[in-house]
Amino acid sequence: MSDKVAIVTGGSRGIGAEAAKLAGAQGYTVIVNFVSNQSAADKVVGEITSAGGKAYALQGDMQHEDDVLALFEFAKSKGTIKALVNNAGVVDHAARLDEMSLERLNRIFAINLTGAFLCAREAVRAMSTKHGGSGGSIVNLSSAAAKLGAGTQYIDYASAKGAIDTMTVGLAREVAEEGIRVNAVRPGVIDTDIHASGGQPDRAQELASIIPMKRPGDAIEVAKAIIWLMSDDASYSTGTIIDVSGGRSIVP
Ligand code: NAP
Repeated sequence: MSDKVAIVTGGSRGIGAEAAKLAGAQGYTVIVNFVSNQSAADKVVGEITSAGGKAYALQGDMQHEDDVLALFEFAKSKGTIKALVNNAGVVDHAARLDEMSLERLNRIFAINLTGAFLCAREAVRAMSTKHGGSGGSIVNLSSAAAKLGAGTQYIDYASAKGAIDTMTVGLAREVAEEGIRVNAVRPGVIDTDIHASGGQPDRAQELASIIPMKRPGDAIEVAKAIIWLMSDDASYSTGTIIDVSGGRSIVP
C-alpha cells in the first residue's frame, strides 16, 4: 500500500512545524514546505525521522503557481496525498490602510489568499474521488483577525483570513460528496516568529492582558486542533472553523 502523505505549507517554523511533527507521529509521510529557512525545515524533518517517521523538506514559495505545482508533484512521488495543512502565511508591519502600498497589498493577498487557494485547488485535484483520488482532508489556517479586523495593525492580512473562512465553508460544500473534508483553525495570538516578522517581536506577550486567558497560545495548542480536524476522529466535520484563541475571538 502506498504511503499516506501530508503536505504542510510553511512547515519549517511555528504552527506548521508543530503540525508537521504531529502528522509524522500519526504515520503520515510529511512534506515540510518552507520558503527560505532550509535549516529550520531540516530540523523538523530530523525530529520526525528520529522519532521513526518519514519526512522531506521542500522549498517553494506558495505565492507562485509553479512552486505549488512542484510541491504537489513531489508529494505524489512519495505516496498518496491524503492531507493538506494550508498554513503558509505572513503579516507585514502595523499600518493603517491609508499607509499601505499596492506592493504590500499584492504580497499579502498573494501569499495568504491566492497561494492558499492554489494549494487547496491542487489538493482537490489530487484527492477528489471525482478525479480518481481516494479522498482526504484540508485544514486551512485562518486567524482570529478574520473576525476582529486588526484595525491599525493589518486589515489586509485580516481580510485575507476572512476570505479563508469563506473559502473553507464554500469549498467544504463543493467537495463534500467527493471524500474531502475542508476545515479551518482560527488561532488567536500565538507565540511564534510571525510577530517579529511584522516588526513586533514582543507582541504575543504584550497582548497577554487583553486575552481572556491572559496568555498567548503555544503553537502546539493550535497544531493539536489541526491534527484533530485532519484525522478520522473528525469524520463528520466539514466546513468547521475552530477558534483556538484563549477566548479572544469574541468581540467584546
Ligand atoms: P511563522 O512562525 O512566521 O512561520 C511561517 C511559516 O510560513 C514558515 O515556515 C515560513 O517559511 C513559511 N512561509 C512564509 N511565507 C511563505 C511562502 N510565501 N511560501 C511558503 N512558505 C512560507 O508563522 P506562524 O505564526 O506559525 O503562522 C502559521 C499560520 O498561522 C499562518 O497562516 C498565520 O497567518 C496563522 N496565524 C498565526 C497566528 C499567530 O499569532 N502566530 C495567529 C493567527 C493565525 P520559512 O521558515 O522558510 O520562512
